[in-house]
Order: sequence, then structure tokens, then C-alpha cells
Amino acid sequence: MTESTKPHVAFLPSLGVGILTPHLELAKLLVNHHGFQVTFFYITTDASPAQNNLINSADLPPDLHIVHLPPLDLSAVITLQTRVLTRFSLNVQENLPHIKTLLIQLIPKPQALIIDVFCTQALDFQESLPNVPIFTFATASAHFLAFSLFLPQLDRDVVEGQLVDLPGPVQVPGCQTIRPQDLIDQATDRNNDEYKWYLYHFKRVSKSAGIIMNTWQDLEPVTLNALREHPFYRNIHTPPIYPIGPIVKETEPITETGSECLTWLDKQPTGSVLFVSLGSRGVLSAEQQTEFAWGLELSGQRFLWVVRAPSDISSATLYNVGGVGSHVQWGLPEGFVERTRGRGMVVGPWAPQVSVLRNTSTGAFVSHCGWNSTLESVAYGLPMIAWPLYSEQRMNAAMVAEVLGVGVRMEGEGGVVGRKEIERVVRMVLEGEEGRRLRQRAIDLGESSVKALRLGGDSCLAWAALANQLNGQCNEAP
Ligand code: UDP
Repeated sequence: MTESTKPHVAFLPSLGVGILTPHLELAKLLVNHHGFQVTFFYITTDASPAQNNLINSADLPPDLHIVHLPPLDLSAVITLQTRVLTRFSLNVQENLPHIKTLLIQLIPKPQALIIDVFCTQALDFQESLPNVPIFTFATASAHFLAFSLFLPQLDRDVVEGQLVDLPGPVQVPGCQTIRPQDLIDQATDRNNDEYKWYLYHFKRVSKSAGIIMNTWQDLEPVTLNALREHPFYRNIHTPPIYPIGPIVKETEPITETGSECLTWLDKQPTGSVLFVSLGSRGVLSAEQQTEFAWGLELSGQRFLWVVRAPSDISSATLYNVGGVGSHVQWGLPEGFVERTRGRGMVVGPWAPQVSVLRNTSTGAFVSHCGWNSTLESVAYGLPMIAWPLYSEQRMNAAMVAEVLGVGVRMEGEGGVVGRKEIERVVRMVLEGEEGRRLRQRAIDLGESSVKALRLGGDSCLAWAALANQLNGQCNEAP
């Protein structure tokens, strides 16, 4: 690296598209709008093709230097059965000694290190790098952060049994309650390593110099105020928070298939198409996939569906479930593609999501409610059919439907939502009065996100405070 006088920040994200995307976008914003140079450590072991596409995309600015960490043989610690958070945490742990050496050798020395909330082992670098403050980036909602910071206390309070078996909702200090059945997957089994890692990371987050958050004041006012002011968060020494969102990717690599989707979309009437995409690793069971296809067909509405091979192993359980599959392996009802040709398009396993959401033909979004997808939907003013699958998505879906009022949540008896219900909800969201109300609310929230980022807006002020802190200048978080 040629020595530059620009302030220097290093990044350590953990794994997964949903985590990598906002880290990369934050890095780009620091470089493009705040005059920083960034060193970005990229863990290549276990990285998916979608992650590699993001890291190799052509639009990365020259002052964003990607450091590819050499692949490691982790077969002694990670097997196919190792679940997501345990896998991420062990992967980071094994890469850590190398990252530390590289970090110490960086020239110029970084002013700060930004790590993912699931890389908190790196907070111990503080001992070797006493003058380099370490910030955590909590890429999910403020509500998720608040719950997670409360988890160690909840863990002490609930002496026996599982949190999901609690008789009533979990009261997160100063925030909305959470139904036990909506808790993050990692909190469902206290005997599992997933839970132990989750607890481990959130016991440590308070040691960071500040928490960067992908949300904004008007999206989550109650929770953000609680994180700043509620005695509970003060007592556990929650560091300053920087809600600088929404950070939503503006460009993305577009493959040939992606470009076919966009061409097709351009020809559809305004606001008429339902986009169906279940995140970077969401899959439906075979039975649900069939019901979903029938529901779409019966609705008579236009759709663009990112289909993957169905799997009866829940996407909550493993990192790489299901598969890309081919048309035949997608398990769609016989003749479905032919019967819906013209008004529907199936594509797999990936579509250029933000380009689709931004397209004026798109009218609504069936989303698994990953936090990035939720923010992307709101930023483009689209109502959602919330279909949570894994991780903290049930909490996000509850927020989308019950707090923000920008979507409806699908629930299936016995775990499968029937075709009639899908048909009803799709029609309602795309052409009903309720759909218009949800869309208006989504548009209003989208506008509030633009306002937050404008000069003088809440996120803009948080950005200014963060940039000063990263630059080594003291400024209170707003
Ligand atoms: N995404 C995409 N195309 C797809 C599926 C997902 O571009 O076909 C992107 C989407 O735009 C989002 C990210 O992948 O930025 C998924 O992140 P999210 O937090 O929504 O869900 P996760 O993948 O972490 O479950």
C-alpha cells in the first residue's frame, strides 16, 4: 500500500452476505464521502460465491484495500453439521492470529478498527494496539441489539428451562416486548453452542468504543432512546451508539440472468409485480414450495420469483442448505412455468435485488425479513409480505407488521401456509385497499430515511460524530 495522509480505518466483518454487505457499504461511504482509506480483511474460508461476487465487484473505490485472508483447513473444528454462528465464530477465531499480525504491521497505522458484533474476540487486540479504538458494527436492527445486550441479564434471571418456553413475552428494557416464539434462533436452545457464542459476543460488545448501527432515529425511536437513556443500558456501560442508516447498497454485480430479469421487469405495468426473494440462504420445504407456486398462480398477479431447490432441512439450522438446483429440481408444480409464462418469471438462485426493488414495475416484496432486505424494501417504498425463516427474522417480521405497519406476516398452521392463504394475501397486498395503505406507509418511511441522511438529519449528524471519532477527534455521539 502506498502511504497516504488520509485517515485509515481497518474493517473485520464476519461471514455471510447479510453481514458482509453493510460492512462493505460502510467502508465505501467512508472512502467516497468522508475521505478515509480502508483496509478490509476478508475471510475467504467458507465464503460463498455470492460473498466473493460482492468482494470482487468492480465498483470498489481504489482507497478500499481488500486483504484476502488465506484459506484455512478448519475440518478439525468445523463440520457440515456446525451451525451458523458457531461456524462464523470459530472461523474468525482461527483467522485471528494472522489478522492481528497483519493489523500490527499496517502502514499507515489505522486510526480505528471496525469489527462485526460476531467478531468480538478481536476486542482483545486492544492490548496490543492500545491507541486504536475498536468499534462494533451491529448490522441488524436496534431492537435486535437491545435484546442481545439484555440477553446476559435474561440468562441470569431465567434460572431453568428454555427462553422459548417462557410463559409470556420478553420485556426488553425500555423497548417493545418479544414473543418467546419470535426470539432469534440462537436463543432457542440454551444448551447449544449457538447460544453460548451468542451470549459470549454480547457480553463483550460493551467493551467497544462505540456501536455503529444500520438504522435511523425515526425508524426505531423508542429503542434508540432506550439504548441511550434507559438505566439498564447505562448500567451495563453501553458505549455511544451511532445510528447512521439506512446503509443500503446502491449498485450490485449484474449477471446475464439478472439482466434478463430487469429487461422483463421493464416491460411490466407500474407497481404490478410481486418480487419474491428469501435472502442469501433462504429455502422453502418441498411442500411449501409447491403451495407457494399454486398460491402465486391462483392469484393471477405478476411475479418475479428467486427460486432455489427446496430443502426439508430448515435454513435456520445449517449454513449451506438446499442448493442452487436447476429448473427441474426446483420442485414447482407440473406445467407451472408454462402456465404463468408472460406474467411470471422464475429465476435462480440469485437476482439483483436492489435493482429489482428500485424498478417502478415492482409493487410488493415477499421477503424473509433479513435486516438488509427490510431496509432495502423500506428505502424503495415497497410493502412487504413478511416470511421469516431464520436468524432474527421473526423479530424483524413482527416489527414490519406490528410496529412499522409496512407489511403483513404470513403464518402457517403446522408450518405450511396453504395456497388459498397465499393467493388471498398476494391479491390483498398488490390490489387491495390494505395494500395501498401499507404502500403509503412504506413510502412515508422511505422518505423519512432520505430526510435522516440529508444535511442536518439524524443519521447525517450521527455520521459526522462517527467520522470525527474514527479520525481520533472527540465529539459526543448525537
Ligand atoms: N440478495 C440479492 N439477491 C438475492 C438474494 C439476496 O441481491 O437473490 C441480497 C439482498 O439485496 C440483501 C442481501 O442479499 O442485501 C441479503 O441480506 P439480508 O440481511 O436481507 O438477509 P440474509 O441473507 O442475511 O439472510
